[in-house]
Amino acid sequence: MHDHSRRNFLHKLLGGSMAGASILEMGFFRAAVARAQAPASTSRLFDIQKVADGVYFALAHPQALTNCNAAIFVNSQDVLVVDAHSKPSAAASLIAQIKTEVTPKPVRSLVNTHFHWDHTQGDPAYRASGSKVDIIASETTKQLLASSASSRLKDSLDGVPQIIDGLKARLAKAATAADKAFYAEQIRQAEAYQAEMRGFTPELPDITFKDSYVLKDRAHDLHIEFHGRAHTAGDVVVFCPQKRAIATGDAVIGFLPNINDGYPREWPRTINSISQRAANRLMPGHGPVQNNHDRLTQFRNYIEELTGIVEPAKKAGKPLAEVRASITPASLKTLQSNGFGAYVSDNLNKYTVYAGSRTAFEDRLAANIDAVYNNLDRA
Ligand SMILES: [Zn+2]
Ligand SMILES: [Zn+2]
Repeated sequence: MHDHSRRNFLHKLLGGSMAGASILEMGFFRAAVARAQAPASTSRLFDIQKVADGVYFALAHPQALTNCNAAIFVNSQDVLVVDAHSKPSAAASLIAQIKTEVTPKPVRSLVNTHFHWDHTQGDPAYRASGSKVDIIASETTKQLLASSASSRLKDSLDGVPQIIDGLKARLAKAATAADKAFYAEQIRQAEAYQAEMRGFTPELPDITFKDSYVLKDRAHDLHIEFHGRAHTAGDVVVFCPQKRAIATGDAVIGFLPNINDGYPREWPRTINSISQRAANRLMPGHGPVQNNHDRLTQFRNYIEELTGIVEPAKKAGKPLAEVRASITPASLKTLQSNGFGAYVSDNLNKYTVYAGSRTAFEDRLAANIDAVYNNLDRA
């Protein structure tokens, strides 16, 4: 689990969406080129959609350094936002969008679903927004932030020059004006991240809890709940029973999971518990809204199937490379059934900039096998 290889750094940096041996081998999808040309992608970072009365979902546009999605709950007097993206300017941009597109009420609460940089590095923008904002997280997430936010930030900054070099190499070889513009925009984004985050000091949540923290409001109740370890040791969801909506952080997303800091043997059980909540609107940390539990169940089953294959192989003494070579997208039942493989693959292409030299899908699978193998026995 303490794999400090460069590959792992970059993998974390890019939200696990690429796992190729070299950043220079990264491929970029045509769809992303088209998106980067769209005027909206430079003026706004999120598409805000209404999912229920007083509940909105901010779907992040693909960026060189990933921004997570946000969930927005409009209370009677103020607003609670779930998750804060990769940098303060991205969070400030969402705060401005909320004002113009959702409500003039001030944001007074922010939930960090887990400690990852792409969900927490925007926290200071909320504290700087003019109103007093409580930042809420599990105790474990606060501990993980206190112990690792600075080193994770350093890892991410250390990786940026290599990303920029890779992008410049691509730019030099780009044949069309659209490709050139795409790479130039990605370089601009990576440099902007570097400039903004140099000298950044991570901040910690104000309010923490072990299992559950409930906010009661005239508009609705919000249950911020830890259901067990999953994508990290401290993941929480935000459930609104009256609106039947739930923000899942990265415990349930629309891509293959990122298991690098995860608990593969406990994760399916945690999802079982989350799915007991009567929600028919799921707002994941990455990827689109889910309107029933079908994808959640497939996502859960995929983690269970992969763990069920990797665990006995590791116990039998098989080296990781051998285990990795024995598993393909075609060999996993859960990827083949009900279009789940196509769903997560399409979403990666639509909602992230990076895709691997083969496919983002295969790179994620390989990274997942490594992470399950390495994390099986985490205490
Ligand atoms: Zn994330
Ligand atoms: Zn995460």
